[in-house]
Amino acid sequence: MTSKEIENSKLKSENYPDAAASPLERGTAKRGGMSSQFSTVRQSRAEGKSQDLHYAETQNRLEEIINSQLKKDLLGMSLAELQQLCEAEGMPKFAAKQICDWLYAKRVDSIDAMTNLSLKARSRLNEIAYIGRHAPVQCQVSKDGTKKYLFEIENGELRIENCPGAAASPLERDTAKRGGMSLNSQLRKYVEAVYIPELNTGGGSPRATLCISCQVGCKMGCRFCVTGQQGFHGNLTASDILNQIFSIPESSTLTNIVYMGMGEPMDNLDSVLRSTEVLTASWGLGWSPHRITVSSVGIIPGLRRFLDESQCHLAISLHNPFADERLAIMPMQKTYPIADIIALLRRYDWSGQRRISFEYTMLRGLNDTSRHAAELVRLLKGISVGRTPVCRVNLIRFHSSPDAPYKTSTPQAITAFQNYLNAHGITCTLRASRGEDIMAACGLLAGQKR
Ligand code: SF4
Repeated sequence: MTSKEIENSKLKSENYPDAAASPLERGTAKRGGMSSQFSTVRQSRAEGKSQDLHYAETQNRLEEIINSQLKKDLLGMSLAELQQLCEAEGMPKFAAKQICDWLYAKRVDSIDAMTNLSLKARSRLNEIAYIGRHAPVQCQVSKDGTKKYLFEIENGELRIENCPGAAASPLERDTAKRGGMSLNSQLRKYVEAVYIPELNTGGGSPRATLCISCQVGCKMGCRFCVTGQQGFHGNLTASDILNQIFSIPESSTLTNIVYMGMGEPMDNLDSVLRSTEVLTASWGLGWSPHRITVSSVGIIPGLRRFLDESQCHLAISLHNPFADERLAIMPMQKTYPIADIIALLRRYDWSGQRRISFEYTMLRGLNDTSRHAAELVRLLKGISVGRTPVCRVNLIRFHSSPDAPYKTSTPQAITAFQNYLNAHGITCTLRASRGEDIMAACGLLAGQKR
């Protein structure tokens, strides 16, 4: 900083005579009060001109930290949002299309790699934005070829608000990211994504599905799910969600995405819809929405919005057709009863390509009897186009975790259940268990570093 700039920054401070004097300090005050770093700034100022250099360095450092908090992730931004950004920054409008192309078609992980943008534009973008890409911090490989990736969730305001015990402010987190202090371990949050290559596709094109997370933990508290027992620790941004897809080595080979990892998609619907828009828009990845399945326990307001605004497939976590028994394993049944969820689904047109399926975890003696099968058929009756049923039930073996109070159904019970549904006009399949040995199978995601 030149001496003139130092003088200017001091002048700026003098224009704000109240406690949080400079714009920098006011910014910090807004974010939760003065830190000791600001005390250093004040002290330096009081000690006169000999401290100017120290003051300027500290000021620079803090401005850098504050600015970094205001930086956006480009990943997850739509073409329209990038056009607004370019306009606000004095860049030509066509630069937005170029940025989209670099982000989503060429999948670069650095702004400097956007070589058809002017140097000035790249430099400005680096000042105001990150790409938003973070490599997974761990990968576990199952004997069946399934891979479980662990991602550390680093930035974003929601996570701070949603971590009541968190000691660090966003400012401190950003300082930590830059190496200034050790990150409070309470704030290290992880989510998992599971890569599932389909090895036996009967001679067709190979399929590779990625099961992704949309929240750190989950509020829904399903009793048979390890994620649900962890509680809720924050929402992911669209950038965090897309990063799971963009930052694994197999990214370009993926054929399907399922939102069935950690979290309830309808409880973080803005971010989920933003991410599916990037996947399906012509300026994004241009995928068919029918390559994407979003699951839900059935949060009705979110479901309604999802069904109106998206064409992606839907999977409902059903698990028991009887209200009282479902409530015993899924607390959200109290607020959003399964009968109301099914009534909503019946009102939608399923005649197109869009598919609805129901997930059903087989719990020994609890939901796998002929009584349950008959009630399930009765419940799902009417979700059809004319006389053709359009729904499918996916049976899932319960994957046991330490302390789990449940057992999976016997093979005989699973077969009998499946046969009954198929015989009564409901397509019923048993989902292959994948990645159980690395705790990657359904209901086992814990988001923990091993
Ligand atoms: S099954 Fe899904 S909705 Fe239920 S607690 Fe687990 S992650 Fe949440």
